[in-house]
Amino acid sequence: MWKSIHPAPPDSILGLTEEFKKDQNPQKVNLGVGVYKDEAGNTPVLHCVKAAEKVLLETQSSKSYLPISGDPAYSAAVQRLIFGADSEVISAGRAATVHAPGGTGALRVGADLLHKFTPDAKVWVSSPTWANHNGIFGAAGFEIARYSYYDGETKGLDFARMMNDLETVPAADVVVLHACCHNPSGVDLNEDQWKQLAVLASQKGWVPFLDFAYQGFGDGVDEDRFAVEQFAAAGIDFLVASSFSKNFGLYNERTGAITVVTPSAAEASVALSHIKTVVRTNYSNPPAHGGLVATIILDTPELRTMWLEELAGMRNRIVTMRKSLVAGLAAQGVDGDFSFIERQRGMFSFSGWSDDVVSSLRKNNNIYVVGGGRINLAGLTTSNIDYVCASVAAAMK
Ligand code: PMP
Repeated sequence: MWKSIHPAPPDSILGLTEEFKKDQNPQKVNLGVGVYKDEAGNTPVLHCVKAAEKVLLETQSSKSYLPISGDPAYSAAVQRLIFGADSEVISAGRAATVHAPGGTGALRVGADLLHKFTPDAKVWVSSPTWANHNGIFGAAGFEIARYSYYDGETKGLDFARMMNDLETVPAADVVVLHACCHNPSGVDLNEDQWKQLAVLASQKGWVPFLDFAYQGFGDGVDEDRFAVEQFAAAGIDFLVASSFSKNFGLYNERTGAITVVTPSAAEASVALSHIKTVVRTNYSNPPAHGGLVATIILDTPELRTMWLEELAGMRNRIVTMRKSLVAGLAAQGVDGDFSFIERQRGMFSFSGWSDDVVSSLRKNNNIYVVGGGRINLAGLTTSNIDYVCASVAAAMK
């Protein structure tokens, strides 16, 4: 069967990590994949996770299946985190949350759900966006369209063009939005812009689909839900795909959730019944471990405090690396103003480095950057920052 079939191309981001692993040079630096690294270059298990796993080891009495929608305590904990514990969405019971295998699984379950009812809708993604958005919504059967977002001149948001584009989106089309820490650009909407966007969504009737993979990596767990709050306040239908891969470091435990928000509890219950059919015919029910760990942490005050501190530690280290990179490039005499790197938020920045610079860094310096110049700031450490800055200076000459 496979003799006449060409191999599929490797994933553009995960493929880079495979190349990186093969590289024998001890100076190699991975600024590619979106995984947090500490000062020693490791992706650690958080202390709060270790503590929760200890509790789980001692108390877990069965590995029997979870319900199709996952553990109800997990769904409740997710809702409190993404909406805020006092949210009217929660008290009104007008959201349905289902544990999905990671943010990717959440996006796909949401995409399959929407495709069941609006197969002819288009899915609008930002230009640029996380490459897998195209793959996920395309695989669910949707046609993909793009709205303006990043402005290469200002290295910021082109909000006027974004709004112009989204004015033309018909009702029932789906608009994918990065709730915070836009991947790949690091450029987010400000509060006033989110408010305007929520008004536009309710006027036009398109369906916002918020990808919330980095809560806590922008300004903080509470601050970062601002976008979600605006759509919640609008009282419209929308979806949230959330992930605990980054903020709990639970990458390989596939711990995410799909939340469908509706105007009423009755509609949420209908939505839930259909999400369950999507899950049942796909993977039946979710993996348990990551969800149980996250629930223990979120529901145990001391562990929650520990988690918030560890998360702040990750966020602050990235901010420090942003500053060091800007200062380091200036110290190396690299032409241009790189201060935009400090203004961008989350794990990523669009560095503005050309494809030539990216390939020179890879060939000559064993520094791995995703094509297009997206860099993961967490790949920088105080030990490699000088090497990276000197290499960029050389590559840009
Ligand atoms: N959305 C965005 C924007 C992401 O960057 C990622 C992870 N790279 C995801 C979703 C998916 O996260 P997960 O690993 O939880 O599937």
